[in-house]
Amino acid sequence: MSLEFLGGFKLTFEHLGRRRVTRQYPDEKMPKQPRQHGRHVLNRYEDGMEKCIGCELCAGVCPADCIYVRGLDNPPDHPVSPGERYGYIYEINYLRCIHCDLCVEACPTEAITESKLFEFSFVNRADAIYTRDELLVDDAGKPKALAWEDWREGDDLHTSGWMRATAPSGAAAYEGEVHWSGELGYGVRAPEGGQSGRRDDARTGMMPLRDVMEAHLVPDDIPIEHRGIRGKMLRAQESAQKKRAKLTAARRRRAEAKAHR
Ligand code: SF4
Ligand code: SF4
Repeated sequence: MSLEFLGGFKLTFEHLGRRRVTRQYPDEKMPKQPRQHGRHVLNRYEDGMEKCIGCELCAGVCPADCIYVRGLDNPPDHPVSPGERYGYIYEINYLRCIHCDLCVEACPTEAITESKLFEFSFVNRADAIYTRDELLVDDAGKPKALAWEDWREGDDLHTSGWMRATAPSGAAAYEGEVHWSGELGYGVRAPEGGQSGRRDDARTGMMPLRDVMEAHLVPDDIPIEHRGIRGKMLRAQESAQKKRAKLTAARRRRAEAKAHR
């Protein structure tokens, strides 16, 4: 009897030891690129004051002409921002935005930054035009989760990593040095890791990314425990742990359902 049919199993066997890359999206989201550009947020200082001073530089620099800003003098008895003026009207039209981040780069106060959220869509044109109320972070400093956006835990943590990589001048010597103000709810964001080695991967979200995107990394950036045979064993262990956790959860659900009968 010919055993040629065994050749058909080759691909299956080749993949047995490989890391599984499929996920239960959107319940399990992949870590996002540190410099990914998503939905904007208008930030506030740690004391709750708004960072936007209504200078309109972002609107001026926007190549898609999709920002509309109007500034207004701050009321002397209850100022909205530390500046003379604040952004009274602020709108971004997401039907036009190309997420180039030039607005973020132009902003002198780091008021406008981009989160990493791209899971949002609209069913009408009005929803696509985000207003100041929608863009401004809430009293805890978190982006307002709008009905048509899919924010999950942790999605708010890392905004505009790229602007935290260097000094405003872009000089590499300043990489890893803090040159920006704190944000309500988050304090002073950690510098993004670059080539300098001075980096805090856990705080900037690089760690999970390095964990799942090893195929795209230089060998030195792959954690030692993920390399070679050691990595294969680790992945097998992780996979077994996940299976055990799923089985335990399923058993628990069954027991709870039984108890409720
Ligand atoms: S990301 Fe670019 S296109 Fe979008 S609002 Fe900012 S400057 Fe305009
Ligand atoms: S977001 Fe920044 S650049 Fe735009 S108006 Fe406000 S302070 Fe000026």
